[in-house]
Amino acid sequence: MGEIIGVVSGKGGVGKTTVTACLGAALSHAGHRVLLCDGDFGLRDLDLVLGVADEIIYDALDASEDKEYTDDAIVSIAENLDFLPASQSARWEDIGRKKYKKLVRRLCDVYDYILIDAPAGIGKGIESILDLVNRCIVVTHPLWVSLRNGARMIQVCEEHNIRDFAIAFNAVPTDGEDIDLYDMLEVLRAEYVGAMIPYDEDILTYTQDGHLLDLASHEFRNVLAPLVDYVVTGDCW
Ligand code: ADP
Ligand code: MG
Repeated sequence: MGEIIGVVSGKGGVGKTTVTACLGAALSHAGHRVLLCDGDFGLRDLDLVLGVADEIIYDALDASEDKEYTDDAIVSIAENLDFLPASQSARWEDIGRKKYKKLVRRLCDVYDYILIDAPAGIGKGIESILDLVNRCIVVTHPLWVSLRNGARMIQVCEEHNIRDFAIAFNAVPTDGEDIDLYDMLEVLRAEYVGAMIPYDEDILTYTQDGHLLDLASHEFRNVLAPLVDYVVTGDCW
């Protein structure tokens, strides 16, 4: 039975979609069967990041409405790595949340890990995802504005009885600028770090060219290793 993990943040643009794609690639490389779900209904973009926007026939909305569509909705990305797109036209408000839940739970029989790329903000979208997941990866920039949103997101997770999460600090400056990790963890009221992902122009370029997963599986392997560990063993640094 697979496990469902949310990739959340509160704030937009901090790297949820990037982390979902890269972590999925790293986990599948390690031999785990992984499904990436775009949970950003109405504003999907994981399909673009994965370079499969043209391959979508049906989406998660079709699949949750009618079981028959599920196989055609799932896009194969690589060995052990599949993708379930969100609907671009419908918003979470329009979606039968029970049916979606049922669909994702059913897919747990097929995959070791299901990663759900969450939308920004606090509303029906994130609540629907938190209803489904066992744990969360909270992505934040190492900046106070992001951290405050991250802290709020952790509160929302706790309101949904999710107390198992890892923090992924993303776009960490590499110019030697001092980052006080302990202060940041204190703002988040968290004890452990799941990953420190550097700011890297290559992420932008490779994403734009549709090759982000190549980057994830080569240069980013070590950076992502602690997050892979967290997913597989449940332990953080
Ligand atoms: P979110 O899903 O939280 O809105 P994205 O994953 O879409 O955020 O990332 C927002 C933008 O930042 C994208 O253009 C992405 O390529 C870029 N990006 C993400 N992580 C990094 C990083 N570590 N270094 C440089 N650019 C990044
Ligand atoms: Mg996103």
